[in-house]
Amino acid sequence: MCAIFGISGVDESSNLTYLGLHALQHRGQEGTGIVSTHGKEPFVHKERGLVGDVFTASVINSLQGHTAIGHNRYSTAGGNTSENLQPLIMKSSLGWVSIAHNGNLVNATELTKKLEQEGSIFQSTADTEVILHLMAKSKERELTRALIHALNQVIGAYSLLVLNHEYLIAVRDPQGFRPLVMGSHKGRPVFASESTAFDLIGATYEREIEPGEMVIVSLNNNFSVSSIRPLNSALKKRCVFEQVYFARPDSLVYGSTVYHTRKNLGKQLAEEQPALHAEMVIPVPDSGVYAAIGYSEFSNLPFEMGIIRSHYIGRTFIEPRQAIRDFGVKLKLNPVAEIIKGKSIVVVDDSLVRGTTSKKLIQHLRDAGAREVHLRISAPPTAHPCFYGIDTPTKKELLASSNSIEKIRVFVGADSLGYLSLEGLLKVASEKSGEGFCHACFSGDYPCLT
Ligand code: AMP
Repeated sequence: MCAIFGISGVDESSNLTYLGLHALQHRGQEGTGIVSTHGKEPFVHKERGLVGDVFTASVINSLQGHTAIGHNRYSTAGGNTSENLQPLIMKSSLGWVSIAHNGNLVNATELTKKLEQEGSIFQSTADTEVILHLMAKSKERELTRALIHALNQVIGAYSLLVLNHEYLIAVRDPQGFRPLVMGSHKGRPVFASESTAFDLIGATYEREIEPGEMVIVSLNNNFSVSSIRPLNSALKKRCVFEQVYFARPDSLVYGSTVYHTRKNLGKQLAEEQPALHAEMVIPVPDSGVYAAIGYSEFSNLPFEMGIIRSHYIGRTFIEPRQAIRDFGVKLKLNPVAEIIKGKSIVVVDDSLVRGTTSKKLIQHLRDAGAREVHLRISAPPTAHPCFYGIDTPTKKELLASSNSIEKIRVFVGADSLGYLSLEGLLKVASEKSGEGFCHACFSGDYPCLT
């Protein structure tokens, strides 16, 4: 998963992009980059690390111009190497072109093979580079038309920002797998993966870029904005996991506030999977908090922060070579013994992937004195890997791919285990956003695979 941000027609475009990327840090922590321009040459800085560490004042000052695009990387296609950091930038007969991508292309391997046979030399292993090569090979000599030519050949998930000396283009694939929103900053256009980036820079949220829509900002024409729909239309397949886990709860995604969606998922979960003799509801922080609030409200059980999360793990300790994941859980989540001692508790989390977190956590809760632990998950079992941009383990590692719910309950050591149904999830997710979701990770129903 990744974050993209772009802004045009403003002073300090790179500084605002830096702030936007900062607000979107949760979407990718491996590396970050900004490409800016004043309508002539590009200025580029990309580096592995967190936004706040990479973009020092002197780096930002070197990124000149009225227009910039930026990217936070979380590798799902291609490895975690510096060549794969985005925005990618390439020179061809079109001049320089830079691109920032969120999503995964499902036919990138076959297109790469074909392009290499035809003489293309790839600089990275990121699927995104395919789009640049297809643009460079296009007979079209204008950025928008070359981009349309390229996008008509790729299949899969892409929310993109494309920049050259003339245009900033924002485009979302016809199925709209990944989010992309548009706003206004002092009357100038701004684009981001999630609206929370606008809050930080004082921009106003306007709307989603629609699936299949391309919004074009002309750098030479007073940053005027136009919208076209040049891609084949398709049924909407917006990633429902953004609502469940990935997006920030203070963001508007697919037109609805993630906080409310998650809280309503918790209510739905309480209706479908009550825990009749439990005494309190405890979230697995941070991502389980909103569903737990909903669960507590619906079931009339008190909400308690019975597990405290440390936010300082990651770079301050040296992981032991063995059982790193288990060690991580202990370091990250600690029960408050006084709250849970002798109690029957409902523990709410948003998802269960490998089961490592739940298994360890439940053991810690029992060690801290919990009498009964009833685990509730505000999504259906994650049984299938994602090919559209979420980093999920292989099918084999996904606990629900080969185990019944009862087997999973025994594995994690819960007294009871209840998941939200797919119908329940889709009902809540579509309340404000309308229908049209990709739920392949839960259902195995893959919208487009080659
Ligand atoms: P696991 O221990 O593998 O079962 O992981 C479950 C935990 O990971 C849950 O608490 C989720 O909030 C979180 N989670 C779910 N999906 C992802 C993801 N794609 N990347 C990082 N964390 C995730």
